[in-house]
Amino acid sequence: MAYTVKFYKGDYLQRQQAANADRAVAYVEHHFNSGASPSAGYAVVVVGSNASSTSRNWGRWYARAVADQFGTQVGGDGGILVGGWAGRGDGNVKHTRMPAVLLEPLFASNPQQADAIRSEAGQAALARILAESIRRFFPDGGLVAFSVGHKYKTSSPNDRGAAMAGGGTEADHAELVLQKAAQLLAAEPAVPTQRMLRVMRGDTLLFETPVDEDATLSWSSERNLLYIADSGDAPAPRALPTAGKAAAPKAAARTAAAAGKAAAAARKTAARGRRR
Ligand SMILES: [Zn+2]
Repeated sequence: MAYTVKFYKGDYLQRQQAANADRAVAYVEHHFNSGASPSAGYAVVVVGSNASSTSRNWGRWYARAVADQFGTQVGGDGGILVGGWAGRGDGNVKHTRMPAVLLEPLFASNPQQADAIRSEAGQAALARILAESIRRFFPDGGLVAFSVGHKYKTSSPNDRGAAMAGGGTEADHAELVLQKAAQLLAAEPAVPTQRMLRVMRGDTLLFETPVDEDATLSWSSERNLLYIADSGDAPAPRALPTAGKAAAPKAAARTAAAAGKAAAAARKTAARGRRR
């Protein structure tokens, strides 16, 4: 199974109705936040006043991932604002029949965060987090609806949202991130996966290995060591085809075949146990 991404345009109600008619499995509207104080900066996701638990959990997961990646806080109630800011934002997502989120990952008005939004690396990181969140919460694939906040409204065609500190607009940069996320989603089929541990440098994945769902992970900054508590029958590491020699130990390659069998069995179990 695979993901298909479609960008919806027009006024917000029409976008949502069109996504409903297309039977999209997930709906994402991308914005950047803005505040009076240049130091304001946190990650938050608006979900509708009628949001399902999937929308809420998806929004919280995304906000936490952005906050961790960019060294900022989550806003709202653990990363989400149910029903928006006293109703503002609610109408952008509450008309969908599928889980929907309105993303406000960083502040366009915060000079440091605006630099990150303008950077290729920042956009790539935001796109990756969004694509990962969709793979995690909608592992069966399907049509994903993307909506660029502010841009392409019939009623207000010149709206581009907030001006970014240092230049550029909220809407143009939200569109760049969504385009990158669409490429990531199209690049790989939708496959439910077990828990994975990943090491990345910038946007490059250096290493990944499955870890037992019950395993405890601990990071030691003294030793620069991420320690996986041995749970006895932990899955064997998996070699990355693109990771190169340094990142793919030979032992990993030798056990990859055995791990593949175990992983396939685990995926079956996971797929059976998953409910939405
Ligand atoms: Zn906005």
